[in-house]
Amino acid sequence: MIRTVLLAVVGLGAGALAAPAPVAALQGGDTPRFETTAVAEGVYRFRWQAHVAFFVVGERAVAAFDPLNPEAAAVYAREIRRVTDRPVRWIVYSHSDADHASGAAVLAEGTGGGAEIVATRAAVDDIMRRASPDQPPPTVTFERTLSLDLGGRTVELHYLGPNHSDNSLVALVPDARVAFAVDFVNADRVGFRDLPGWHFPGQTVSIRRMLGLDFDTVVFGHGPVGDRAAVFRQLEYWDALERAVRDAVRAGWTEDEAAARIRLERFADWGGYEDWFELNVRGAYRIIAGAEGGGR
Ligand SMILES: [Zn+2]
Repeated sequence: MIRTVLLAVVGLGAGALAAPAPVAALQGGDTPRFETTAVAEGVYRFRWQAHVAFFVVGERAVAAFDPLNPEAAAVYAREIRRVTDRPVRWIVYSHSDADHASGAAVLAEGTGGGAEIVATRAAVDDIMRRASPDQPPPTVTFERTLSLDLGGRTVELHYLGPNHSDNSLVALVPDARVAFAVDFVNADRVGFRDLPGWHFPGQTVSIRRMLGLDFDTVVFGHGPVGDRAAVFRQLEYWDALERAVRDAVRAGWTEDEAAARIRLERFADWGGYEDWFELNVRGAYRIIAGAEGGGR
C-alpha cells in the first residue's frame, strides 16, 4: 500500500519535471513570425512579428490596412490571396509612421495592383516630408470621415484628432462591430517610451471619441485583440496620467520630481509599466508643461 503511494508520487514528480520543456519551447522560438486570424466574418487580423495589420473582405472588394513594411507586405499579400480573390481596392494607412505605413507598392503589386492609397488629410505633409520610396503618398484623403463601399458592407474611417500622432484614423466595420486602432490604444499597455510625437489633451479626447463608435471588438496595432472594456481601461490610464502630470506641473514640480513621485499602482501589472511608466510621465510632463508654458 505504502509502496504504491510512493510510486504514484514519484510518477507525478517525473511528470512535473518533464512538463517545463515543451512550455518553454512554445514561448520561445515556436511563436510563428506571422499569422492571419479571422476576428469576424470577412474581417481579418494579420500579425507580422510585433506589428498587426487588418483587412476586410466585402462582396466586391477588399480594404487592407497598414502594409507595415516591404518584407511583411509581400507575405501580407499572399495571406490576403489565401482567403479571397477579390480585388484590393484600398490600402489604408492608419497613420504616417513608417513602421506601420511602409510597403504599399509591394502589397498592391502582390494582390494584382490598382489599389488606391488612403490616409487622413493630416498625414499628407508628414509623408511628403519623409519622401520614402517605401511610403507612396495617399491618392485619396479625407478630413473627418470616409466610408468605403466593399459591396454588401462598408468600412468607416474616422479621424478623431491628434493622439499618438496628429494623423491617426480609426476604422470601423459596422456590420461586424469591429474597430481597428493603432498605437494610441493597446490592450493593457502603457504608452511607448517617452511618448514621442504624442498630444495632450488630444490623447484622451480621441479615446473618448472612439468610445462613441459602435464596436464590441478592437484589433490593436500591437498585442492581442481587445474589447470595449479594454478601450475604457486605456481611457482610465491616460486620464489618470494626464491628471497627475497636470497637477505636478501646476504645483511647480520639476520633471525629475514628477518622474520620482508619480505612480499609478493600479496599472502596475500592465505591459511596459516597469520599463516605460516613468518615461510616460516624463514625456507627458514635457508635452503638458510645454503647452502650459510652465516647463522648467
Ligand atoms: Zn505610430
